[in-house]
Amino acid sequence: MARIVMKFGGTSMAGTERIRRVANLVRKQQARGHEVAVVVSAMAGETDRLVNFCREANPLYDPAEYDVVVASGEQVTSGLLALTLQAMGCKARSWLGWQLPIRTAEAHSKARVETIDAEALIAAMQGGEVAVLPGFQGLSAEGRVTTLGRGGSDTSAVAVAAAVHADRCDIYTDVDGVYTTDPRIVARARKLKYVTYEEMLELASVGAKVLQTRSVSLAMKEHVRVQVLSSFLGDDAPPADDLPGTMIVSDEEMDKITEDQDMERQLVTGIAHDKNEARIVLTRVPDRPGAVSHIFSPLADASINVDMIIQNVGRDKGETDVTFTVPQADLARAQALLEAKRGEIGFNRIITDAKVAKISVVGVGMKSHAGVAATMFKAMADRGINVQAISTSEIKVSVLIDEDETELAVRVLHTAYGLDAEDEAA
Ligand code: ADP
Ligand code: ASP
Ligand code: MG
Repeated sequence: MARIVMKFGGTSMAGTERIRRVANLVRKQQARGHEVAVVVSAMAGETDRLVNFCREANPLYDPAEYDVVVASGEQVTSGLLALTLQAMGCKARSWLGWQLPIRTAEAHSKARVETIDAEALIAAMQGGEVAVLPGFQGLSAEGRVTTLGRGGSDTSAVAVAAAVHADRCDIYTDVDGVYTTDPRIVARARKLKYVTYEEMLELASVGAKVLQTRSVSLAMKEHVRVQVLSSFLGDDAPPADDLPGTMIVSDEEMDKITEDQDMERQLVTGIAHDKNEARIVLTRVPDRPGAVSHIFSPLADASINVDMIIQNVGRDKGETDVTFTVPQADLARAQALLEAKRGEIGFNRIITDAKVAKISVVGVGMKSHAGVAATMFKAMADRGINVQAISTSEIKVSVLIDEDETELAVRVLHTAYGLDAEDEAA
């Protein structure tokens, strides 16, 4: 017997028929003798719909009220799953974020889980009741509803798994594991049986939305065993306990696995893309100490994350252009803030472009091997793809390109790093 947290994403919860499938999977896990807590997302498309209502109501919306609106999608699905389980004769009840509570800190709309009072949950699970929790939502110190950022139900699931000391956290989604790149873009993407926390963290943070970034860092910190697997398989599919999906493992476990199986660790693990960034160029910024601080301090104070940054070679008259990216969702706020600080920063023009994409290659092998970036630039150049900005970390290289070239770039790089699945290669 084990204690399992099962998380179901939006497509798995889209409508009563799908919810019935989910309830069946939950029931099967319980029938194997496991104690089960379930974390659910809103129905696919619902959160987008709710976000749009907020934008229509007030384009510069108050994040606290935004949270009230968008948290509602998960309340609906958690109640519906509890009802469906009850209809099947399973004991089940929902526990909303404020009821447990799931305490969170930091900004509304991107809150961070601090503590979960899991006593009642554990008692329910031990009593044979399925605990159903809406993902994505929590409670602030002020007693208001918060949400954990888009895709945040993954983080809710990992946080619940850590709080109840679960043996495993199964993240059920619409693909059967983590692939070398988004399998919806590259048909030859390969499923990874294992991926390390570090690589998954980097992949998620550069756009592999199969897991929310914070869920991976939390799992790494709390030593939660996470599996990504599909909720869309037939009744004859192997049970989750046989680990049919992708397991996220520590670096040491990965070393052991590769050694046992006599495999080499890949130089590049995966490729991700992100179309949610926007580029801002400030022209003719004074080229003197402190100038960039005038640009980035107000953005940081407003919790706007700046990602890639380039300062061009100075022009004549001690001026330079500064290029950087921010999340598209924060573009309007960033632009308004920068305009308000125009005098202090001293720029000439502000140019924005939301039609950009960031393509990243990730792999721990980069730590010890040179040439990964060179391969990337050559592959892109051979296809005439223009690179607008570059950023690197120890295990990642990212480039900013025209959004229209996203699919092409991902495919070209997937082939360039030898990641294409052999059986489907032409
Ligand atoms: P859910 O609604 O279940 O949370 P998401 O849409 O958030 O599901 O995440 C699953 C999607 O992530 C897949 O449908 C796939 O298109 C996308 N994805 C992006 N990168 C990868 C990857 N490397 N491996 C698997 N899926 C990926
Ligand atoms: N429903 C939320 C979203 O779409 C949270 C989640 O599904 O993980 O972002
Ligand atoms: Mg998701």
